Amino acid sequence: MILQDLTTTCAAALDATDALMASLLEAMREVLGGAPAAGAAKGGAARTGTGGAAQNDATQGGMATEGKPTATRPDAASTLQREQARAHGFAWASTYARALREMLGWAQRLQAAGRLGELESLLLQAAYAEYLAQLAGGLPMSQGEMFRADSLDTDGTALARFNADPAVRLLRSRGFDGPARARIAALVADGRATRSFGDPGLDDPALYEIREQFARYADDHAADAHRWHLENALIPDAVIAQLAELGVFGLTVPEDWGGLGLGKTAMCVVTEELSRGYIGLGSLGTRSEIAAELIRANGTPEQRERLLPGIASGAILPTASFTEPDVGSDLASLKTRAELVTRADGSRAWRINGNKTWTTHGARSDLMTLLVRTETAERGNRGLSMLLVPKPRGSDANPFPAPGMSGGEIEVLGYRGMKEYEIAFDNFETPENALLGGEAGQGFRQLMRTFESARIQTAARAVGVAQNAFELGLAYSLSRMQFGQPLIAFPRVADKLAWMAVETMIARQLTLYAAREKDGHRRCDLEAGMAKLLAARVAWANADNAVQVHGGNGYAQEYPISRVLVDARILNVFEGAAEIQANIVARALL
Ligand SMILES: Cc1cc2nc3c(=O)[nH]c(=O)nc-3n(C[C@H](O)[C@H](O)[C@H](O)COP(=O)(O)OP(=O)(O)OC[C@H]3O[C@@H](n4cnc5c(N)ncnc54)[C@H](O)[C@@H]3O)c2cc1C
Repeated sequence: MILQDLTTTCAAALDATDALMASLLEAMREVLGGAPAAGAAKGGAARTGTGGAAQNDATQGGMATEGKPTATRPDAASTLQREQARAHGFAWASTYARALREMLGWAQRLQAAGRLGELESLLLQAAYAEYLAQLAGGLPMSQGEMFRADSLDTDGTALARFNADPAVRLLRSRGFDGPARARIAALVADGRATRSFGDPGLDDPALYEIREQFARYADDHAADAHRWHLENALIPDAVIAQLAELGVFGLTVPEDWGGLGLGKTAMCVVTEELSRGYIGLGSLGTRSEIAAELIRANGTPEQRERLLPGIASGAILPTASFTEPDVGSDLASLKTRAELVTRADGSRAWRINGNKTWTTHGARSDLMTLLVRTETAERGNRGLSMLLVPKPRGSDANPFPAPGMSGGEIEVLGYRGMKEYEIAFDNFETPENALLGGEAGQGFRQLMRTFESARIQTAARAVGVAQNAFELGLAYSLSRMQFGQPLIAFPRVADKLAWMAVETMIARQLTLYAAREKDGHRRCDLEAGMAKLLAARVAWANADNAVQVHGGNGYAQEYPISRVLVDARILNVFEGAAEIQANIVARALL
């Protein structure tokens, strides 16, 4: 059942994939008018994350980043927008190619360590079988949008070569055929008791211990988490205190500032396991990660000393407030204003006016990373600054007990446990030393750089949610009997579970790859974008399929999969919606 010379065959198929992608890149560039798109990296599809000029950009194609106009041609942005379907399709196809490369790298590392077992081999060949088929025949960017490679390879020559490649043909026809699907389902069913769903291939034995520790924590709190969700309650303070004790809020903060000084790979392992128990648990550290990285990379020495130890210990819970009622994806056009004023006592302060929305954990937080416009003469991202705003903790009755700050909860489908808020600032004042780095006009640039880490963390959250959905679906399929048999005996059920196991591993390997790039101090906006893009889709697909496996019970709130479905849905929207993420990937490559 395992294909002979599997890793060699996959390597050959990868060569064929690279050739296809090179042709699609050329075609895409031609569509865009021959020149690289705004903000493009040299090397296109060949870029491996070792540099490049790609900008991380939360805005539309042609908006400037880091204060520089990016369009090498004035019409580049509008061309890219007009050609979004193909450009984003190309981004997705490149994400698949990268994911396949990382799956092979994972398998080769396991092989070298003598740990490439039957399940891992089957996951590898299944990943190749399905993604190679989708690359040639149609790749779902969303449920209703399919990218077809022949929309770029219009004369069909590149696809003909790809389809004729012997390794591609073998993997596609046999890699994930009926027997392979059935065997994967049988192996994951056998592995359920010990949670053996494929070795994640972590390169440090200590990471396996960390994984175990947080897996136990997540399992111990999974039932409570479902109750918090149903009651729309904040995750209890006692849980936050326990996670603080475990070091969750200072995982990647250097030891000099009271953190654990671990890398992003460790952060992914912890985040995935906590999110597998509950997305809220895996998300508690998100804002600490964002704030700590903003301050570490850009803060003044005084800001680092004052804030990093508290963030690392969990004593200071940050919240991230960027989105406004009229400004989401196009963050560069935000309107909330901050002006420097002199108070009666002679001290200076930022006076803030405007409205923010979707601020997660807004009430029970001590510090806002608040993106504001400080220079009104400057349009777009150049007039934006990041403020580190201290605030008192609020309660359900009075969420924002500070003069000049008011707001209320936004009721949401899922992603509960921290609550989301809209916040109005009416002459709210914060001290002058709130300005991150002490320099105005740098906020957008500072934030975009932080998005690399934030997106890796979100990809890891998505992998955890995907894994949770898979495990819930698997457990149900083993216990529920119909027609005198467990559900998993029916191929249509087993096939779903097999693919969930495969694609979760693909998303995990792509995410760990982005984390390794970050840990290697290499620019990884592209890699983080790819990981977030794919992992979010996988989380949603797994959740949807796991509900299907549950039948009617999947729709009952009593069953945790009903929560996982709504929790999974947000991952494609925040931290850069899927369309924005695809745009970032496209711009980096084209
Ligand atoms: C539960 C939840 C928690 C959140 N937490 C926070 C938080 O803590 N802090 C914070 O600041 N924000 C937070 N957000 C906000 C979140 O980041 C935004 O919702 C997200 O950035 C999308 O912005 P938007 O909702 O305004 O959608 P819009 O920008 O209006 O986009 C709507 C749709 O149009 C698409 N679209 C927009 N522009 C383009 C384009 N150029 N090309 C193609 N398609 C496009 C989008 O992809 C999307 O599908 C949260 C949101 C939610 C729902």
